[in-house]
Amino acid sequence: LTETNAKPIWHPMAHPAEMRANPPKIIMKGEGVTVTDIDGNSVLDAVGGLWNVNLGYSCDPIKKAIADQLSALPYYSGFRGTSTGPSIELAYELSEWFEPEGMVRTFFTSGGSDSVETALRLARQYWKIRGQGDRTKFLAVKKGYHGTHFGGASVNGNANFRRNYEPLLPGVFHIPAPWTFRNPFDETDPARLAKLCAKALEDEIAFQGGDTIAAFIMEPVLGAGGVIVPHESFMPLVRDICDRHEILLIADEVVTGFGRSGAWSGSRLSGVKPDFMTIAKAITSGYFPLGATLIGARVADAFEADKTSFGSIGHGYTYSGHPVGCAAGLAALAETKRLRLDENAAARGNELATVLEGLKARHAIVGDVRYKGLMAALELVSDRATKKPADKKTMAVVSEAAYEAGVMLRVSGNNIILSPPLIISAADVAKIGEALDAGLSKV
Ligand code: PMP
Repeated sequence: LTETNAKPIWHPMAHPAEMRANPPKIIMKGEGVTVTDIDGNSVLDAVGGLWNVNLGYSCDPIKKAIADQLSALPYYSGFRGTSTGPSIELAYELSEWFEPEGMVRTFFTSGGSDSVETALRLARQYWKIRGQGDRTKFLAVKKGYHGTHFGGASVNGNANFRRNYEPLLPGVFHIPAPWTFRNPFDETDPARLAKLCAKALEDEIAFQGGDTIAAFIMEPVLGAGGVIVPHESFMPLVRDICDRHEILLIADEVVTGFGRSGAWSGSRLSGVKPDFMTIAKAITSGYFPLGATLIGARVADAFEADKTSFGSIGHGYTYSGHPVGCAAGLAALAETKRLRLDENAAARGNELATVLEGLKARHAIVGDVRYKGLMAALELVSDRATKKPADKKTMAVVSEAAYEAGVMLRVSGNNIILSPPLIISAADVAKIGEALDAGLSKV
């Protein structure tokens, strides 16, 4: 494995030649919140797989549910005339779970990108059903991340993820992110910045014409873009603007769903009811690929009362509602609820916040720290005054030193991203802090 590492495989989000020169770590085992690489190094996984392994690597109820379902029925499709028990049960569970967000229907997908694609398509279809087929445009947020399909990549707010694949979907426009550390308004007060970004949305709608816009998509807390935490007033302001212009609101909860933000969803943090929620990742705690697009009453009612030729859903995946995935999901959600992982994320998140503020106070290279629940980022800069991003080499030194100190971190641009399993303990939080301290002391 070590010899052939990075030769036959192209890894996501990487340059093939760079990967060959600097092969990835090969992870062989996982137990609790710890993973072990091919050389036998065991480290605390402060990345939680990829924001998803909320229950850690030893969740027996999920493993058993998967094994049982594999024995009973490894696969059957949910296309047209057939369905499966676990998919129906999980849809019930999800509408109960996200009842406060107003979600009444579930459309299963194979992952987050599929969930976003589904929401964008159903949003356009909704307007065709409503006789307003000219509403085709999408609005989104700079720095937002929405997966890799052409629709999701189009609404993606990071030009680096778009430029290699252009031309993308036409009619997509982005507003500034409510990011206090860097924004075009030079505004550092989160509440005032939320108002300015909401005003930018209002202005863009006026410029485009509200009746040309299908939907606005946003992450309640921006994850991959560097854990940008909007002020709690932002999403309600957005909901109000969307309501006034009848624009559908898609909450991309692929990261924020199921407790990571310290609540069962990011929308719930500010009491907002979106029209769609996209979920994936922690729905199975990473044990099986699965996603879903959840649908609110306004859209569901329009589809179900439809008398036009546009009502049939001409969209779906072979693995929509995969019975093994849904069985894994049912077990993962039961464990997530039983352990009240939203509360643990909030409590451990507060401890982590204190640790991160301490690191910022001690290390000049830390330009900014951002956190909500158990999603957090340290933004490293070579100069605090100019906010010049730290270079790639610096980031690698920090993460390698932390790995040697027993903690896996993830580097994204000049951010260190933390998204540990939601089952972590106070001692684990302290260990993450010590490893970060060791890493930052090297640069
Ligand atoms: N939306 C958000 C907010 C995400 O963070 C991600 C993945 N990181 C996606 C969509 C895409 O999900 P997937 O990688 O499962 O396709």
